[in-house]
Amino acid sequence: SNSLVHTPIRLLSPQLANQIAAGEVVERPASVVKELLENSLDAGARSISLEVEQGGVRLIRLRDDGGGIHKDDLPLALSRHATSKIAALEDLEAVMSLGFRGEALASISSVSRLTLTSRPPDQSEAWSVSVEGRDMAPTLAPAAHPPGSTVEVRDLFFNTPARRKFLRTEKTELNHLEEVVRRLALSRFDVSFTLAHNARTLYQLRPAMSELERERRLSLLLGQPFIEHALVVDMAAEASGLRLHGWITQPTHSRSQADQQYFFVNGRIIKDKVVSHAVRQAYQDVLFNGRHPAFVLYLELDPTLVDVNVHPTKHEVRFRESRLVHDFIYRSLHRVIAQMTPASVMESAV
Ligand code: ADP
Ligand code: MG
Repeated sequence: SNSLVHTPIRLLSPQLANQIAAGEVVERPASVVKELLENSLDAGARSISLEVEQGGVRLIRLRDDGGGIHKDDLPLALSRHATSKIAALEDLEAVMSLGFRGEALASISSVSRLTLTSRPPDQSEAWSVSVEGRDMAPTLAPAAHPPGSTVEVRDLFFNTPARRKFLRTEKTELNHLEEVVRRLALSRFDVSFTLAHNARTLYQLRPAMSELERERRLSLLLGQPFIEHALVVDMAAEASGLRLHGWITQPTHSRSQADQQYFFVNGRIIKDKVVSHAVRQAYQDVLFNGRHPAFVLYLELDPTLVDVNVHPTKHEVRFRESRLVHDFIYRSLHRVIAQMTPASVMESAV
């Protein structure tokens, strides 16, 4: 046996290191879209347009009108652990940006053909960097572009066949991708979003500032029945600084799946046991077993009271005072549900 033979230790090449990291954040086209949309929002974009082909596998092209990236920073934007969003560990304590790990562009560019074109408003011309997966040394070239950025991701997983095998049909990949757009469009009513697939426009969402415009966006994203059965939630607890607002649906609009449940903490969508439990408990007297409420809810709290650095995809959070958060959510929702529900229904429901 040669099991005792010494194998020299080598430093992974940047590309290989990035591809390994990509395993955590880039599962499918939808994960790329999530990262790119978050970057645009972090860059202050007010208008984002997304074109995809073949469920995003062949092409994802996102254009924004955000702050852009300075020419000198373009190559750095594609390297690992390069971020403009935090500089010290303390910054993580109160991070408000959606990104902060500085990994997304490095990961995505290691498993695709990526071009990033950008022009900050104060720069007279645009520049672009491209990487082709195999060598991570980006080439810089002048480009034509209005203020803002465009990221083009082609041929996802072209150089990682093992990952490509896990991709599903065009329809399935598009469904995942649409869900990502839906979540972010629900998180930022003030930003306009368009989504086109194979040159067909699926969503064209204008900024929604009035109540009527917000309801219109909700009905485009979640269907007219959602808004017809929606109850408005808006509760604040002065002492703890917690605020919960949004929409929950009447028990009559319950669903057989928990597929229309959107919960945002400081603008970031999350999945959390404490939250789910509080919602379920608020509905327990009015919903039959196996039925699920639909909701779009926003919890705002002091960012130091919640840890978002739990998982690379940042879908998990940890509340410092989870009991307090749980009870606040439960009480807020219970009050709204009780107000609209006749006592007889409350009693007769299982
Ligand atoms: P992170 O978002 O965690 O900082 P990314 O790899 O997603 O890491 O992006 C790296 C950096 O590139 C960001 O910190 C930001 O400075 C810059 N960047 C990426 N996308 C955009 C964009 N659309 N507009 C402006 N800057 C961007
Ligand atoms: Mg990012």
